[in-house]
Formats: sequence, structure tokens, C-alpha cells
Amino acid sequence: MTASVLTPAQNSVITSVSGFQFSTSSLTQAEVLQLKADFPVLAETVNGKSLVYLDNGATTQKPWAVINRLNQFYAHENGTVRRGVYKLAEGATTAFDAVREQVAGFINAKSSTEIVFVRGCTEAINLVATTFGKAHLQAGDEILVTAMEHHANFVPWQQVYLERGCTLKVIPMSDAGELDMQAYAHLLQSGKVKLVGVIHVSNVLGTINPVAEMAKMAHAVGAKILVDGAQSAPHMPIDVQALDCDFFTFSGHKLYGPTGVGVLYGKYEVLETLPPYQFGGDMIDVVSLEKTTFLAPPLRFEAGTPAIAQVIGLGTAIGYLQAIGLERIALYEETLRQQATDALLAIEGLTLYGQAKHKAAVCSFLLEGIHAFDIGTLADLEGIAIRTGHHCAQPLMKRLNVSATARATFGFYNTHEDIDRLVVALHKVIKLCK
Ligand SMILES: *Cc1c(COP(=O)(O)O)cnc(C)c1O
Repeated sequence: MTASVLTPAQNSVITSVSGFQFSTSSLTQAEVLQLKADFPVLAETVNGKSLVYLDNGATTQKPWAVINRLNQFYAHENGTVRRGVYKLAEGATTAFDAVREQVAGFINAKSSTEIVFVRGCTEAINLVATTFGKAHLQAGDEILVTAMEHHANFVPWQQVYLERGCTLKVIPMSDAGELDMQAYAHLLQSGKVKLVGVIHVSNVLGTINPVAEMAKMAHAVGAKILVDGAQSAPHMPIDVQALDCDFFTFSGHKLYGPTGVGVLYGKYEVLETLPPYQFGGDMIDVVSLEKTTFLAPPLRFEAGTPAIAQVIGLGTAIGYLQAIGLERIALYEETLRQQATDALLAIEGLTLYGQAKHKAAVCSFLLEGIHAFDIGTLADLEGIAIRTGHHCAQPLMKRLNVSATARATFGFYNTHEDIDRLVVALHKVIKLCK
């Protein structure tokens, strides 16, 4: 791993990454095993078996670099931001501000003033739904979301449309899990659509949605578009200017970083039109007894003391990913997706949900006659962590005609052997449940 892309602060705590000079091809298994060793949890045993962690869509594990950075901050650098003139406060402010620049570079935003720190992807979307609703939505306006949204990009819009007398319409999808782009074009023709909300990569189906094309179509009718990037930002290079989306959101904890921090990207000229989301310290300009004026974005949206250590830890996680290279991560995870897909489809009685042409390494499935929860519980006995349930996407479950699925989601530290272990476990589950 080359150290040149790491900022000095991160460099000082990244101690356990391997010495590879990565090329632009997929990661080799040897490289993956070296990187995996950076994640202490992955060395744990569960029920006497070495852990196979396949719930990366729910949350990811943290490398020593991130763990050490949090320790380092709390042990030696802790201070609040934007307040004190003393050394600790100034140091914390510098480190915090540097991450805003770093995040802007990570997703190729035009400027760090377009990066708002929030608690996570959920808060980012709630912030947009609430403030965009106040500023721009009136009775008769329409909001479009897709049939495969996570509740985080569905329920906030549902609340807004109910409050403001708008209409919420759903862009349908095929059985394979691909959006019906003709239906989308047709829905846009009403001339009333003000906002489109779309999940970039489905957390259930793995579908990679054509968000750049969708943004172009939305803009042609004067609508804005929000892209939920919770499942894309950790797994592929993101360029918000190329996507030309108005908003892009993601969570730190799904990107190998800390919980309690996430990012809202918004085009500056769009953020400027939105009122504050919360009120208090840090976001004000002048306060008198009668009235208060507010700061410009992004600080307008960051009331109160932010998650300082988590933001700094997120910076380390992003530096770690950049040092590996998101292209290489995407290439490698594609090999995992192919292997897992072939192996799962070879299991008799297994149904794979989500067979889009453009797909990320997310495999939702059911075994004939066996409840998803039994699959998850029995897999756990083999040391394998997979998710079971509705995956915060009940409207999608309804569309698929199931109440729950089992789901394996992959990260760059997963190996080909992990997939072999999953397949062996599933054969055991079938035997036990027969
Ligand atoms: C996890 C997830 C969210 C919500 O993220 P939080 O970290 O829980 O706020 C939103 N959208 C998608 C697609 C997700 O996978």
C-alpha cells in the first residue's frame, strides 16, 4: 500500500496495512488476506468456528487504522471544534475540517462547502425531505421514489407528502429487479414532479440503478434527484459531478468507519435554497431576542457539537479505501458476486432475488420450504453471519411476494473461501430442515 494518498495525521496511525504496490487490476487473494488481517473482529471465532462475516450491507467491520485513530484522538487530541483558541480545540478543528475536504475529493464534489456531516444516511435523507419539503413542495406536487427503496428513502418522503398535500408515486421494476425506465419517463411527463429519490445500489437486490441517466431525465422536467448511496459509496468509485445528482447520501459505518456519522452531499446552489433542519449553536450568524440569522451551508445544517471523533475516524476509513483503490475493490467484489451467484444457483431449491444485469455483490435468497430466520440461525452455528428479514424494505418484499429473505453481502475483505463456507452451511441447513 502506498502511503502517499494518506494525510499525515492518518499516516501516523495506519500501522498494520500491508506493503503491496497495488496495480489497477482486481485484488489478489493474497492481498485480500493481508488486508483482512487489518480487521481484528474478522479473527474472532463464533460457535467454535472462524467467523465468516457476510452482513456488510448492514454494517462493516473496522480496520485497526480506524480503531487506532479514534483511540489516538480521545487519548491525546480530544477537544471541541470551532470554539476554542487553545491548542486542543484548534487541532480538533483542523483535523475535522480536513475530513470535509477529503470527503469532497472522495466523491468528487466541486467544493467542501457541499459536504454536510450528519449522523448517517437516514438523517441525511430526513434532512433533505424536511427542508426541501418546507422550501419547495406544495399541494399538487409529486415525489417519485422507486419500488426498491430502503425505508430510509421512503418513509421520510411519505411523511412529507402527507403533511404537504403532495403525491408520492412509485417507479416500478421488473421481476429481475431492474427499474422500468419507460414507466419512469412516463411518470415524469406529469410536469408536477419536484423530487426523485433513488437508491443507487439496492440493499436487497444488488441492482445498480442508472442514476446518471435518471438525473438527466429528472432535470429535463425541472425536478431534483436524491441518490441514496449507502450501498454504493463503500464499493465503487463515486463521482457526484458525473452523476449530476442534486443530493447524495451515505453512512460512515457501512464504509468501514465509525457509527454515528454520515454524509449529505448537496449541490451548493440547491443547499442554499434550503432552510435549517435543526436550531442551536454552531449554525447561527447573529442571534438577538427577536430574530436569528443563519450561517451559509454547510454549517447551516450542522447545529450543535458534531460527532468529532467519528468524523475524523471516517476520514481515516476513506483514506484506507483510497489507498487500496475503489476501482480495485469494485473489480474484486465483482469476482465474489460471480462466484456467489453461480454457487448459490447450483443449490437445489434455492431462489435468488435480484438478477439485474448491473449488480453489486448483494445476494438475497430463500431455500424452498425453509424460513429465512432458520437459515440465518443455522448459518450462525457454522460461524457465518448473514442477514435475515425484510431488510428495511417492506414495500419491496411485498413486490417480491415474500415476507423475508436471507442475504449475504460482501466487502473487499471477504474471500472465495468465505463463499465455499456459506455453500457448505446452506447444504447443512437443507439437510437439517428436511
Ligand atoms: C443502511 C441503509 C440506509 C440507512 O443507513 P443508516 O446508517 O441506518 O442511517 C439507507 N439506505 C440504504 C440503501 C441502506 O442500506
